[in-house]
Amino acid sequence: MLEFRCEDWVPLSHRLIEHGRRVCGARKTSCSLCPLEDLCPRIGV
Ligand code: SF4
Repeated sequence: MLEFRCEDWVPLSHRLIEHGRRVCGARKTSCSLCPLEDLCPRIGV
């Protein structure tokens, strides 16, 4: 499990939101373009 410092929480959440908008959308994912492909368990995808 990854841990992040408190001061990183806001920038991290912004990056996750942007990742969801650009690559990993709720209705359509772009796994072949995703930089997290090797780390992601792709549960439910
Ligand atoms: S590899 Fe994982 S994080 Fe990346 S787009 Fe697919 S489901 Fe989303």
